[in-house]
Amino acid sequence: MDNESEQVIIVGAGVIGLCAAWHCLKAGKSVTVIDRDSVDQSARSACSYGNAGMVVPSHFIPLAAPGIIGKGLKWLANPEGPFFIRPRASVDLIRWCKIFTTHATTKHVVDSRELLRDLNLESRRLFKEMAEEAGVTLTERGLLMLCQSDRGLDEEVEVAEMANALGISAEVCDPARLKEIDKGIQMDVKGGVWFKQDCHLDPSAFMDGLRARILEMGAEVVEGTEVTGLKNAGGGVVSLDGVVVPPASQIVLACGAWTGDLLKSIGKRLPMQAGKGYSLTLDSPRELPELCSILSEAKVAVTPINCQLRFAGTMEICGNDLSVNPRRVHGIVRSACQYFPSYGEEDFQDVRPWAGLRPCSPDGLPYIGRVSSYSNLTVATGHSMMGVSMGPMTGRLVAEILGANDPSLDIHKLDPMRFS
Ligand SMILES: Cc1cc2nc3c(=O)[nH]c(=O)nc-3n(C[C@H](O)[C@H](O)[C@H](O)COP(=O)(O)OP(=O)(O)OC[C@H]3O[C@@H](n4cnc5c(N)ncnc54)[C@H](O)[C@@H]3O)c2cc1C
Repeated sequence: MDNESEQVIIVGAGVIGLCAAWHCLKAGKSVTVIDRDSVDQSARSACSYGNAGMVVPSHFIPLAAPGIIGKGLKWLANPEGPFFIRPRASVDLIRWCKIFTTHATTKHVVDSRELLRDLNLESRRLFKEMAEEAGVTLTERGLLMLCQSDRGLDEEVEVAEMANALGISAEVCDPARLKEIDKGIQMDVKGGVWFKQDCHLDPSAFMDGLRARILEMGAEVVEGTEVTGLKNAGGGVVSLDGVVVPPASQIVLACGAWTGDLLKSIGKRLPMQAGKGYSLTLDSPRELPELCSILSEAKVAVTPINCQLRFAGTMEICGNDLSVNPRRVHGIVRSACQYFPSYGEEDFQDVRPWAGLRPCSPDGLPYIGRVSSYSNLTVATGHSMMGVSMGPMTGRLVAEILGANDPSLDIHKLDPMRFS
């Protein structure tokens, strides 16, 4: 690591850390990225590789929203359902659930939806430049929200109306229209919604391309190095435990689901739970859709990635544990075969599930901003199911926070210390 002062040290080489590095480098800063994993290894703990790769302006409703608690309780009873909380005697979990519950209101949705829209739309715009520099294709065909039940369709039609009112283009479709939009796959559905501004890319290729690009731009990437904590260096400044960094470095924590652990070492609380999800990637799919989609009732995301087809789903709040639960993986397979009748369970027999931990804040908004009482500590995490989607804009906001200018969006609602 070189000795320059005013160096930006980014802890975490997931999509948020790499996007922050890219924007800080573009702003002329000197950047070091530290990660405990080796980015070249196949056994990486980062959530940013095997996810569904969707860029989703359509996701302007935060996770904490009316109706979610009732649905969640129903899903809890189903061992193959899309949602699970492992009961644990954990003060952090109880506190997280309490904050989540108080935010699952219409008021919170109304207060948050424009900010989520702006974060996602601005990110989508930035993706065009970043994906090109990373050598990755951004497929701009939109996303289909597919529904098998009348009730599910009614709910999605309501979301579509809200989307259009917010300037996000959404078309309600019957099965014939869906067939016209995506000729690549047979669907057994009642209807759906086409969110035209959504897009998708190969998240692993984006990560690899981004990493190569930041190295070219002069970043240092230190792999296989764990930051074990933060320490108070006096004068309102923090330093790292486990790694020697130049004094007065600006430190950015982008450690995904593990970010709160580091903040605890300086007595700061960041309510966060890991939301484990799985993905299954078919190398030779029997049918390949042209657009990405979400199987609405089953909460399964489906993404064509080059010639492969990826199915991703479940949200298990079980602590920072990457083990695979075969029942929930089977739930994804079962849903895939229900919505896409040309598929059978045998298609998934030899597929090895990937698991990742989404960093989930309890109000469904990311944490982006400086940590009060420290002049050199910034946090960028908590993006839950939208870390890829919001990665580019988060990176730009981090660079703006570290620069002389005010952030280009009002981000006071994203203050990392908002629950202190
Ligand atoms: C099944 C599934 C599907 C998804 N689909 C989508 C999608 O379609 N679109 C979308 O936008 N999002 C999606 N997501 C969510 C998205 O993957 C995450 O929001 C995003 O990857 C989080 O990125 P991150 O950089 O914050 O964290 P991570 O990618 O987890 O990176 C954190 C990094 O920090 C490192 N680290 C942690 N602690 C330390 C330490 N102490 N010292 C050094 N290094 C440390 C870790 O090794 C890791 O590399 C999906 C997630 C899942 C599970």
